[in-house]
Amino acid sequence: MSIALPVVQADRGCADAPVLKERGQREVFCGLTGIVWLHRKMQDAFFLVVGSRTCAHLMQSAAGVMIFAEPRFATAVLDEKDLAGINEIDHELDKVVVRLLERRPDIRTLFLVGSCPSEVIKIDLSRAAWRLDRIFAPTVRVLAYSGSGIETTFTEGEDACLRSLVPLMPALPATDRSLLVVGTLADVVEDQLGRIFADLGIGPVHFLPSRRSADLPPVGPGTRMLLAQPWVNTTADALRGRGAEHLPAPYPLGAEGTTAWLAAAAAAWDVPAEHFRRVTAGPEERARRGMAHYRERLEGKRIFFFPDSQLEIPLARFLHREMGMIPVEVGTPYLHRAHLAAELPLLPSTARLAEGQDVDLQLDRCRAEMPDLAVCGLGLANPLEAEGIATKWSIELVFSPIHGYEQAGDLAELFARPLLRRATLEV
Ligand code: SF4
Repeated sequence: MSIALPVVQADRGCADAPVLKERGQREVFCGLTGIVWLHRKMQDAFFLVVGSRTCAHLMQSAAGVMIFAEPRFATAVLDEKDLAGINEIDHELDKVVVRLLERRPDIRTLFLVGSCPSEVIKIDLSRAAWRLDRIFAPTVRVLAYSGSGIETTFTEGEDACLRSLVPLMPALPATDRSLLVVGTLADVVEDQLGRIFADLGIGPVHFLPSRRSADLPPVGPGTRMLLAQPWVNTTADALRGRGAEHLPAPYPLGAEGTTAWLAAAAAAWDVPAEHFRRVTAGPEERARRGMAHYRERLEGKRIFFFPDSQLEIPLARFLHREMGMIPVEVGTPYLHRAHLAAELPLLPSTARLAEGQDVDLQLDRCRAEMPDLAVCGLGLANPLEAEGIATKWSIELVFSPIHGYEQAGDLAELFARPLLRRATLEV
């Protein structure tokens, strides 16, 4: 089969470009933030952060106060007095977990999420999870992972959470094959993509995480995996360890990215090219129409990415190729070459790639460039706006449904809006 794939830049774009590596002060959320979208996705899971009041404040403000729904996350705040000895710690944690599970019989998976205060670092949460799992099995599965700001940035919390599930996934029978989509997608996006896979004749298709954490998808040598999010790196490694094979592809952002992502699965399933075009042409055209309106505002504008979610490289590719923007600097907290191999050749070689952060140096570079738009965390947005640079909060890009054809217009709008706001202010 031959399906037209994105034409790479003649000079191979950023495939071989040098990367500016910085290891200084960072302005990035910690991995606890992932709980905000993970708890919405896995409807029978509960996330118990074992942390401090700071962690509780972060969770409260990141997720907003939930008044109407009983939230599926909480923080067990452990004080120094709780930590007189290992038995007391176990006892305190057991008390909290027993109370929680009695009150919430709907919970099927309980994640104990580690954090970074010194009192918490002393606790062996994996051992606690193992002990509690034996007590509550088979009704409730208890797992542990770290969302600590020392070990994880922002989206790495999801990676750590999903990786903890991999050993529990059932084995796919040796003669079966299936497609596994890895990384949290909004339900609406999952449904849309699921319908396209069905129309293409690709399947069975499973998603990790699944909506019900108790229904883990199977994995084995017949599994082909498509990454939906660029931050599921250690999860993908663990899945490879269970036999799954990665299908390299750009991420499904924008019309071109979505088509290329679907094409990777279509090639693995030997879908005839004409059939692929028949299924994807309509939604792709709708996506292009949805984006067209915003291209006028974005074309030729210079954009600077501070590192935050690891979505920066796929977003820069989308904005450059489909919206005509000029990426000046594309910072990412972590650059996984293998998982970005299909993205890097699509970036213009004029873009500066940066990995990690030294925030003061990066702010200096941003001021020197004076881009039209900077994508950054909440802490940097106000100072940059005050200096005349329009900003986009990167956290919005993680909390909003942006993948797939039907969301391509909304994704473009997320970048057009701050430029429009600034233009209005200037008028
Ligand atoms: S885990 Fe660490 S960085 Fe994250 S909120 Fe708690 S104390 Fe802060």
